[in-house]
Amino acid sequence: MTIRDIFDAMSYGPATESAAEAMAWLDTHGRRFGHFIDGAFTQPGESFATMNPATGETLAEVTQGSADDVARAVAAARKAQAPWAAQSGHQRARVLYALARLMQKHARLFAVLETLDTGKPIRESRDIDVPLVARHFYYHAGLAQLMDAERPGMEALGVCGQIVPWNFPLLMLAWKVAPALAAGNAVVLKPAEYTPLTALLFAEISREAGVPKGVINIVTGDGETGAALVVAKVDKIAFTGSTEVGRKIREETAGRGIALTLELGGKSPYIVFDDADLDSAVEGLVDAIWFNGGQVCCAGSRLLVQEGVAARFHTKLRARMDTLRVGDPLDKCIDMGAIAGPVQRDRIAAMVAANAEGDTHVAACAVPEGCFYPPTLIAGLSPSNPLMQQEVFGPVLVSSTFRTPGEATEMANNSRYGLAASVWTENVNLALDMAPKLAAGVVWINGTNMFDAAAGFGGVRESGFGREGGWEGLMAYLRPARTPRALKPVAPNPAPASAKVEGIDRTAKFYIGGKQARPDSGYSTPVWGAKGRLLGHVGTGSRKDIRNAVEAARGARGWAKTTAHNRTQVLYYIAENLSARAVEFAARLKAMTGKAGEAEVEAAISRLFTYAAWADKVEGAAKPVPMKALALALREPVGVIGALCPDEAPLLGLVSAMAPAIAMGNACVLVPSCAHPLMAADLAQVLDTSDLPGGVVNFVAGPAADLAAALAGHMDVDAVWSFSSADISGLVERLSAGNLKRTWVNDGRARDWFGAEGEGREFLAQAVEVKTVWVPYGEG
Ligand code: NAD
Repeated sequence: MTIRDIFDAMSYGPATESAAEAMAWLDTHGRRFGHFIDGAFTQPGESFATMNPATGETLAEVTQGSADDVARAVAAARKAQAPWAAQSGHQRARVLYALARLMQKHARLFAVLETLDTGKPIRESRDIDVPLVARHFYYHAGLAQLMDAERPGMEALGVCGQIVPWNFPLLMLAWKVAPALAAGNAVVLKPAEYTPLTALLFAEISREAGVPKGVINIVTGDGETGAALVVAKVDKIAFTGSTEVGRKIREETAGRGIALTLELGGKSPYIVFDDADLDSAVEGLVDAIWFNGGQVCCAGSRLLVQEGVAARFHTKLRARMDTLRVGDPLDKCIDMGAIAGPVQRDRIAAMVAANAEGDTHVAACAVPEGCFYPPTLIAGLSPSNPLMQQEVFGPVLVSSTFRTPGEATEMANNSRYGLAASVWTENVNLALDMAPKLAAGVVWINGTNMFDAAAGFGGVRESGFGREGGWEGLMAYLRPARTPRALKPVAPNPAPASAKVEGIDRTAKFYIGGKQARPDSGYSTPVWGAKGRLLGHVGTGSRKDIRNAVEAARGARGWAKTTAHNRTQVLYYIAENLSARAVEFAARLKAMTGKAGEAEVEAAISRLFTYAAWADKVEGAAKPVPMKALALALREPVGVIGALCPDEAPLLGLVSAMAPAIAMGNACVLVPSCAHPLMAADLAQVLDTSDLPGGVVNFVAGPAADLAAALAGHMDVDAVWSFSSADISGLVERLSAGNLKRTWVNDGRARDWFGAEGEGREFLAQAVEVKTVWVPYGEG
C-alpha cells in the first residue's frame, strides 16, 4: 500500500480500548459471582456463564437466583428501608452525589465492562451510557436534596423490585436505582441474564459511596428469578423489557395494592419530510437504528419518507449503510458492534427470512463471523407485515413512503406501540404541528435518541406506562403520606317490606353521546330512597352499553383540541347550572341518602370551580437539559378514561372523577355509584345545558364488576380509574393487561371526598400524559 492509497482510502486503523482493567476486576472475584445482598456478595451458587458476544469468550460465571435468594434480598431491603427513608433528604443526596463521583472515577472500567458484556460499541458505552449514568446520579442527588421542601406530604413506597433488560444494563439500572434511592426506597434489582456484570460492579462501588447495607441488593438470574421477584413481598415493580413479559407482570401484580411502572417495547417511526436536511436525517438513522445494532427500545425502526424525496433518500441511505463499520465493539472506530447473544441474532435472522417480501438491501460492508448481523433496509412491505408491526430488536430498518403530513401521522400511529418518534423537517411550523399528533411518549425533532435525567422518558399504548426522569420519575417512587382508611361499603337502600311500585317519578336512562339512551339489556332495577320510597328505576348496563359509550367518547376526541380557555368556560358553566338547581339537587341527595344534601352540592360546585381553574393552569415545562436543545414536557390528555365512581358521595364522587378528566381534555365513561345511580341522570341534565359537546361525558349505570370488566378489557379505553371496592381494583388491573392501559385504583381505601384528598394534583397527574418533545438548535 502506498501513501497515496492511504490518502485515497482515508480508512481508519483499529483503535482498540484495553480490556485489561475490566478483566483484572473480574479476576479479583475469581470470575465467579454470588448475589449482592445486605451489603456483601453471597457465595456463588448454581451458576451460568455470561459471555462476550463479540468473541464468544466466557467472561464470568454468575449465580442463578432462586426464590429463596430473592426472599433474602427483599428481607434485607425491608430492614434497611425505614432507616434510609428516615435520613434527611440532604443525607441521601450526599450518598447519591458520591455514587455520581465514583461513576466518573471508574468511568473507563464501567464502559469497557459494559461493552465486553453487551457487545455494544465502546463509543456508546463510553460517550453515552456512562456519562448519562453519572448525570442521573447527580440529578437525583438534587431531587433528594429538594424533595422534602418541594413535594411535602409524600413518602417512599418501601421495597422496590426492579428488572432491567440487556441493551442498556447500566443506564437502565441508573434510571431505576437513582429515583428509588432519592425517594427513600430500598431496592432489589435483577439485571438481565446476558449482561449482569456492570450491576455487580455498581453494587461493589455502592459500598464505597456509603450506601447503607441492604438499601441496594442485586440478584442475578434469568426470567425465573425475575418472576420470583415479581411475586415477592415488594411495594413496587419497575420493569423495563418486552411487552410480552410486561403484560404477564401486569397480571401478576394485579390486586396486590403495589405500584407498577412498565417501560416496554417500541416500533418507533422515523419520519422524513421532503424539506428535511437529508444528509442529517441519514446520519440520524445511523444513531437511531444501526449504532447499537438496533437493540434500542426506542430505535427509529420504521422509516417513513415523503414520496418526492424517497428515491434520493434511499440512495443516500444505502450508500451510508455500505460504509458502516461493523466489528470489534472495543474498537473506537466502529459504528456497530455485536448482537447481544446468538439467540437474539438467530431470532432476527428467522424473522427477516420469514417476512422479507419487499425490496431488501443488505449493507455491503464487511460483517465479521459470529454474533453479528448486517445492517439491513427493507422497503415496500405491506403495513400488516410482521416486520412493520413487531419489534425486531436488530439492525433491520423497514421503509415506506407517504404523501401528506396527515398520511404520515396516520401511518406513524398505525402501531400498538407508542414509545418514541422522530420528525425531520426544516419547517418548524410543520414539526410543532406533528409533535402533538404522534402517539408517542417522546418526540425528537431533527434528532434521535436524546436522553437526559431532567427529561421524562416512557411510552403510551403497549409501550407501557409511567415516566422515568424528572420530577415525574421521582413521583413514581412516592405516595401520599396518609394513614389509609378502609372503605366502608355503602349498600343500596333496601326495598321496604311491602314494596309497592308506585310513585315512580321516572326511569333513568343512560347518557351516551350527549343523548339519553335505553339500556341495551332492556332491564332496569328499582332504586329505593332512604325512607323506603321508590325513587325511580335505573337501567342495567351491559358490555354493549359500555361499547356504545366508548365509541361516543372516541368520537368526541375534538374536545382534546379545544383550547384550555374553552374547557374552563364549560366547567364554570356546568358549575353555574348546578348552582341554579342546588336546592333540587340537595333534596334529591336527601331522598337518596337520608342526610342533608346542601353541603355536598356546595362541595361539588366548588370542585367544578377548582378544575375550571386548573384547566388553563396545568403547565408544560422546558426541561434544563445539558445540551443545546429544548426538551419540552407537554401535558396531553390520556384519551378515553373509564371511571368507577365512589359510593360514599353520590354527586361529589361523580364530579370529582369527571371534572379533572374533562378539564385536561379527556373524554370519559363514568359508572355512577351502585348505591345511588340516579344521581348520574340528574347530572346529565345539567351537562346537557352547559355547552359540553356530546360524547365528552357518558354515564352507564349497572353492576360495578361487569361494567369495570367491560371498561378494563376494552381496547379503545386508555385508562381506568376505580374508586369502588378492593376486588374491583384487582379486576381492573388484571383485565387492563390486554392493551396495557393505565390504571388508578383505590385498593379498597377510602378517600375523604370533601377534603384535600378529593381533588388536586394527584387527579390532574392521572388525567395527563407527559410527552417530551426534543428540539435541538444551534450548531451543537
Ligand atoms: P425481556 O422482557 O425478555 O427481559 C427483560 C428482563 O425481564 C430480563 O431481566 C429478564 O430476565 C426478565 N424476565 C424475563 N421473563 C420474566 C418474567 N416472566 N418475570 C419477570 N422478569 C422476567 O426483554 P429483553 O429481550 O431482555 O429486552 C428487550 C426488550 O426490552 C425489548 O422489547 C425492548 O424494547 C425493551 N426495552 C424497553 C425500554 C424502555 O425504556 N421502554 C428500554 C430498553 C429495552
